[in-house]
Amino acid sequence: MIIGFDFDGTLVDSYTPIEEAFKKALEVRYRWLPFKTLWAKLLTKIELQFERPTFGKHKKKSKPPFFLRTKFFETWFEERAKLTKPIDDSIELLRKLKEAGHTVISFSAEDFIDGMKVRRLKTAGMYDLFDDVIVFGHDMTIDEAFQLVREKYGDETFIWVDDKPWRFIGHGDENTEYVWYYFPFTAKFAEKNREKLALIPHLHVIRDLWSIFDVIERVKQERSP
Ligand SMILES: [Mg+2]
Repeated sequence: MIIGFDFDGTLVDSYTPIEEAFKKALEVRYRWLPFKTLWAKLLTKIELQFERPTFGKHKKKSKPPFFLRTKFFETWFEERAKLTKPIDDSIELLRKLKEAGHTVISFSAEDFIDGMKVRRLKTAGMYDLFDDVIVFGHDMTIDEAFQLVREKYGDETFIWVDDKPWRFIGHGDENTEYVWYYFPFTAKFAEKNREKLALIPHLHVIRDLWSIFDVIERVKQERSP
């Protein structure tokens, strides 16, 4: 099977250190600025606005607002990357999935700054573990990225793992199985629009990444003729 993993909130916890990373970035870039702790809190609030669901969108390529593409945010991403930790021993999980013969790809959205996702995948020590790294959002829409997976790897079952289930709506095909990794930090954004999640076919919910093996077994049985 092809297994595509989102990054933030799925393979790594990069949410807990958001505020701390802002504090560090302010220290690096704006040493003179008073009340850094307060500024860090405010910037965290702003950043989290971008994490909220946009149900049924993701149709377009997007360019983030200019202030998110500055040197300051680049520093923030770097500090955030340093503080980011794998979830559920995800590095070992990726290895085990590959050992089991699956095609394991990184399938996630670009950060505000071009190329940043790849840099962070490398910092996390995950980049080389993937058979392929596909980043959508800036140069490619989700649908184009999905099409690319199909062109490169054919029509076999695609298991798509993401902590933001609203991203699944309207994407994929009949050979796609959707796995919502329930990450409390982002799951709270889904609570308000839970009924929308009913629009997703073949949705599995896991609270531990290693449960992906149970999903694979279940899918194998359901899809065997
Ligand atoms: Mg995510």
